Amino acid sequence: MQTSWHELKAMYTNEVHRIQNLVMGIRRGEIHQNKISDVLNNDQTGIFTKQINNFTEHLNAMNKKEQFIEGLIEKRFLYQNAIDRGLENDDDQQTFQQKLSVDANYIRVICSSDDLYKNNQSQWYTLCGQLLKEHEQNPQLQIIYVDFSYCSYELHKIIVLSRTEKKNNATLTPSVTILPSDRPDSDESINILLLGESGVGKSTFINAFVNYLKFDKLKAAEKNPVVLIPVSFIMTTDDNFTEHVVKFEGNDTLSNEDYDHLGQSVTQHCKSYVFALKNGDNHGRKLRIIDTPGIGSTYGSSQDDANLQQILSYINNLTHLNAICILLKANNPRINIFFRSCFMQLLDVLGENTRDRIIFCFTNSRSTFYTPGSTASSLKALLNSLPDQKIPFTKENAFCFDSESFRYLVARLNKIDFNEIEEEEYNDSWEKSSAESNRLLQYIRTKMSIGIIPDESHSTKHVQLKINLMIRPMLETMRNILRNIILWNADLRNISIELCSKIIKGTTAICLKCPHESAQVADFWIAIHNLHIFHKKCQTCQCNPSDHYPVDYELGYKRCDRLTSNSENDMIKMLDDLCQASAEFANFLLEPIDASQNDPFLIGLNRMIQEENDICVNKTSCQLNLSLNNQLQQLKKNYEDTRKRMTVKKECIEMDDIYQKIENMSKYEMVEVQMAAIREWHKFMIKYYEYEVPT
Ligand SMILES: [Zn+2]
Ligand SMILES: [Zn+2]
Repeated sequence: MQTSWHELKAMYTNEVHRIQNLVMGIRRGEIHQNKISDVLNNDQTGIFTKQINNFTEHLNAMNKKEQFIEGLIEKRFLYQNAIDRGLENDDDQQTFQQKLSVDANYIRVICSSDDLYKNNQSQWYTLCGQLLKEHEQNPQLQIIYVDFSYCSYELHKIIVLSRTEKKNNATLTPSVTILPSDRPDSDESINILLLGESGVGKSTFINAFVNYLKFDKLKAAEKNPVVLIPVSFIMTTDDNFTEHVVKFEGNDTLSNEDYDHLGQSVTQHCKSYVFALKNGDNHGRKLRIIDTPGIGSTYGSSQDDANLQQILSYINNLTHLNAICILLKANNPRINIFFRSCFMQLLDVLGENTRDRIIFCFTNSRSTFYTPGSTASSLKALLNSLPDQKIPFTKENAFCFDSESFRYLVARLNKIDFNEIEEEEYNDSWEKSSAESNRLLQYIRTKMSIGIIPDESHSTKHVQLKINLMIRPMLETMRNILRNIILWNADLRNISIELCSKIIKGTTAICLKCPHESAQVADFWIAIHNLHIFHKKCQTCQCNPSDHYPVDYELGYKRCDRLTSNSENDMIKMLDDLCQASAEFANFLLEPIDASQNDPFLIGLNRMIQEENDICVNKTSCQLNLSLNNQLQQLKKNYEDTRKRMTVKKECIEMDDIYQKIENMSKYEMVEVQMAAIREWHKFMIKYYEYEVPT
């Protein structure tokens, strides 16, 4: 519109000049009377008139459109331009749905365009009627109209997108597209979660297990062993205890236990190994062994806590689980105290329906003649000490292996010789372990064939996990609301800043020591951080790992030149809500005695204040940032006051209320766009740490 307006203006000026010249020409007698009509009625004038008509028509259409959108907003629709959602011409179905990210229960998206509306009015009104009816029944429902009129993506019909809880739920309208929920579609694979104390030898167990399943005889394995996780160990042979370093190397470095050699605590990830089963009825079915960070590590309980969170978040993003395998050493009467507490917390989190999915595997059981040995009694004691939790532990769900025969295999591949007696013993050990592996698989296949979704709700750990994910989105939302309130009060009411998020592929962190850029968005300076690749330590800079904080999505900012749908009061209410919820969440996360330096919300607030300070110091014109800095200080004070009040009153918030709060906070659109990127990141990380075993 603006361009055609400028074109028109230019043409108009031209025309005026032409006529002025004409008049002057006539006055000076340079142009003959007969020529006047020629000059006046030439093409130029015709084109000009046509352009004006086009422009007026366009303007009328815009007016109509404005009324149309106003009508929608009156009916509580949210209007969005498809371009703002980043939709493009060559988007496939999946990208299309992702960009519209309808993964909340309370959102319906109706996609249409001016042309579709004009040509399918009855369908449009039917669909809107249905949506409004639904909205009546559920006032929390948010209906969004995504307008494809200006977008290169070609929409062929009006569609309504919604998320349905279960696959077979009745759909809203015939044209509804079902979107997947947070969890990806369940596949047929058998998923086994492998849990074990640090140092129990999980890598070796996984390596061995895969080979035991594939080869029932050691001799067969020697020809073509499967290398899953590289391992190296020292083996002593013969009567002189000659030591050999033996190595079993593959191409990947996914091992969870290679961290054991590092003298520092690092965030570890769950990794999965997928391979296709070959035997009989299992043919083609995939087995996924999920290797978890060892718990009960020497780094102490904070590392355990981090690992536990990691396991939980992994499970949260998994389609289903078939079995939970607890790996223990045979004949080890002392079960690590950390392992004990983690085990109990995990059971708590996984919920009732996982109780009968637990199986026990014992390694190093050759010396106890393939029995759990003295571990059995301490395990029984542990299981009995669990309140009301009848976890079976019988011969049926206990499996005894010996990794020694696998070690022997590796040694043989390293050309180490053994005497005949040893050889015979290892052959025997292999066959027993192989038989046991097959029994385990058979057991899972018959007893646990149908995957379950761990009932992760209503446990302290699960709430903590959810809250931890929301800290940054909530803080950034509060800062951005403050920006918009400042814009509003500066009488810039048709300007606002929107948050958008970008999915990260990998493990990244922001370095607080490294210099960063700032960008100007709607007169605000906004710090733009480079994301550092973080793998064990920072791969981008030399700063201390503790100067970094991990991020799971990238934040973007967009200036919007239209009236915000929120008034100042709405924004203030949102801010208060978020601040109150932050205090309640922190209250739930932390013990009252915990010093404020452990409060992640406060840490985040301080970080934001520091960031605004830096901007104000470095930029000459930063009026709005100065106000933002003040407002953030005020917010921090409010937050601290709320926290104090709660501590004094010894306020204790029920778990159900916290869940409700989490739900409510996620409904704020600015929070939701960030949460969506976090979910995508988790899905990506699962794939990233998955290793498909070549067959
Ligand atoms: Zn740095
Ligand atoms: Zn760095």
